[in-house]
Amino acid sequence: MHLELTKDQEAFKSSIETFARDVVALRAPAIDKSGEFPSDVVHAAATRGLCGVTIPKAWGGLGRDYVSYALALEAIARASATVAVSLSVTNSLVAELLAHAGTDAQRERWLRRLASGDALGAFALSEPESGTDAANQQTRAVKTADGYRIAGRKVWVANAEEAAIAIVFAATRPGLRGQGITAFLVPMDTPGITRTARPDSLGVRGLGCMDLDFDIEVGDAQVLGPVDQGFALAMWALDGGRIAIAAQALGIGEAAIAEAIAYAKSREQFGKPIASYQAIQWMLADMATEIAAARMLTLKAAAAKDSQEKCRVEAAMAKLAASEAAHKAADKAMQILASAGYKSGSVVERLFRDVRATEIYQGTSEAQRMIIAGRILTE
Ligand SMILES: Cc1cc2nc3c(=O)[nH]c(=O)nc-3n(C[C@H](O)[C@H](O)[C@H](O)COP(=O)(O)OP(=O)(O)OC[C@H]3O[C@@H](n4cnc5c(N)ncnc54)[C@H](O)[C@@H]3O)c2cc1C
Repeated sequence: MHLELTKDQEAFKSSIETFARDVVALRAPAIDKSGEFPSDVVHAAATRGLCGVTIPKAWGGLGRDYVSYALALEAIARASATVAVSLSVTNSLVAELLAHAGTDAQRERWLRRLASGDALGAFALSEPESGTDAANQQTRAVKTADGYRIAGRKVWVANAEEAAIAIVFAATRPGLRGQGITAFLVPMDTPGITRTARPDSLGVRGLGCMDLDFDIEVGDAQVLGPVDQGFALAMWALDGGRIAIAAQALGIGEAAIAEAIAYAKSREQFGKPIASYQAIQWMLADMATEIAAARMLTLKAAAAKDSQEKCRVEAAMAKLAASEAAHKAADKAMQILASAGYKSGSVVERLFRDVRATEIYQGTSEAQRMIIAGRILTE
């Protein structure tokens, strides 16, 4: 597979890197400190098309490929992990799923708004008793004369604080697990949604995460895709989402490496920069190598998605490798900065906290290993 970037991809990457450096990075410490959703930054990203990177131009998106999207999220995450994951949810899990499975009427109503950032999207799959085992949906959707009555609880819904629309999954045929779940397009101002802000989290603070209790009526026109086949749609969306989270992890890992290199060159002990010691050099070499390897897997997964190949295993490998490499990079950066990294408010301290979620959301590392093992054991 050819992994060299085209001139157009390079130019796009460079324009997003400039935006990330000049706009996003400046706000990152305050987003982390306040834990408030960064509406201003997400809006600024939207004006650059970053809420609809792969959405066709006809629907108001940039019409770019998945490789470009991954490059953009990597650049944004290098500046702020929170902004990157917020964008990944509205792009991969909402706008792309709507473009993929929605009717023209649904797209007409929501896709332009999502692609422009006028409406932010949320994805409500996880429940108190249904995390990794996402097919075990307890939220129920019961047929009414002209729609469904949906009742249940969703947890950890990122972007929920600001989202105008959520894709909500519910069991239409309880007991049938993945064959009995339907996806619904639910405007967040639908009467009967109770929002509860989540308590402070370790990292990716300011993500607008909420728990949502539903007791709502929706019309038949709000069903997204075929009835009872919503679980396959959720998994389809997560294939793209995992490539985005892999890219997010790469950005965090690169930021950690940059901090570690700068410090290692400037900090002197025993009369010499610590970068002159082999112990430090080897840590830096391993960090750079593992992030570079994970980038190859991420670009490979993005290219597979672009070529309409199935990319489930590629996406799982990319997310697994990138999140674990980034975790290690943040950990080693902390070791290299030592007390200067450990103090509250240091960039490395924020990266160390932010990176952890990349091994949890959109499927834990164990979930990625299940996908990969499932494939290699049946080939
Ligand atoms: C910051 C953040 C944002 C999130 N945003 C969203 C969102 O927008 N929308 C949404 O729907 N969800 C969201 N989530 C939820 C997230 O997707 C889940 O946390 C994740 O899928 C894991 O589920 P769980 O936390 O219930 O863990 P559990 O599923 O309870 O897992 C607990 C542990 O057991 C392991 N485990 C479980 N089953 C197996 C098995 N069969 N074999 C081996 N190990 C296993 C897991 O890997 C994990 O280590 C978010 C979570 C976080 C932290």
